[in-house]
Amino acid sequence: MILSVIAIAIATVIWIKTRLANRRLFDSQFSWRNATPQVLRPGVQGAHSAAFWWRQVRDCERATVEWRERKMLTKALVGLLMAGAFLASGAMAESPVVGDRAHAALLYVLENNAQFASSHGSDYYARFTDKQEPLVTMVSCSDSRVHLHAVDPTPDNDVFVIRNIGNQFATAQGSVEYGVHHLHTPLLMFVGHSACGAVTAAVSDYSGESPAIKRELDTIDVAKGAEVKREIVANVNHQVAAALQRFEQEVAAGTLAVVGVIYDFRNDYEMGQGQLIVVNINGETDPEILRKSGMLQGAGAAKILDASRLSD
Ligand SMILES: [Zn+2]
Repeated sequence: MILSVIAIAIATVIWIKTRLANRRLFDSQFSWRNATPQVLRPGVQGAHSAAFWWRQVRDCERATVEWRERKMLTKALVGLLMAGAFLASGAMAESPVVGDRAHAALLYVLENNAQFASSHGSDYYARFTDKQEPLVTMVSCSDSRVHLHAVDPTPDNDVFVIRNIGNQFATAQGSVEYGVHHLHTPLLMFVGHSACGAVTAAVSDYSGESPAIKRELDTIDVAKGAEVKREIVANVNHQVAAALQRFEQEVAAGTLAVVGVIYDFRNDYEMGQGQLIVVNINGETDPEILRKSGMLQGAGAAKILDASRLSD
């Protein structure tokens, strides 16, 4: 990058200097003061006036000057192209590992998609080709260990999913409102998870992160230095509370329920590995009240978190 800037600067200086030098040369030779027969070629005036021959010579010299300028410009451009080629070859030589990994990742995705496309006929898409009708607006953490197949083996047209670090409402409010107000999902669910890196960062010193990452961590309201397992629960509760504030009318009218859960792929909460643990329903976090609530009727096997029993 620096070499490119230097090369461009040098090429520009060469071109400007050449152009100025040629212009000075041209002006000194062809000012009206010097436009006398003695500066013209001897014996070629013929029947024409001195002014005519002055114009002939001037045009000829002007063409010469412009030819010199084009020559220097060509040299400068060739130099730039060579510098660019040199830098490009250097950059390619410096990143073979990154290139290989990206290539492998792209092949993985494309190959999977080819298999998916060849194994799903038009019947598969028919029910949602023209319109989506999801049941759930889901705000999940972006963590790569947290995926829809843990809650829905066929998520197409079921889940309007929004993902960000820390499963946050604040950094995705527009998308969430779209799911609730335009797609009219009856359920808004916030999905936290065990070993969440965003919550781990939020309870720690993240001042060294980039401004964009800091902005997203700033909206995770957790206690500095607190235990991550507890703060993962607190974060889910905060997200539910923020959503309840925004969708107060929908919840009061019974057209929307806001639920907070934790997907525990490590069994950190000791209720079974891979379990989805209910933490909060419409602001209620008491496990006894939750178990009796209408929302969990028919869900006898549901895991409900008792936050008071979390070990320190
Ligand atoms: Zn996470």
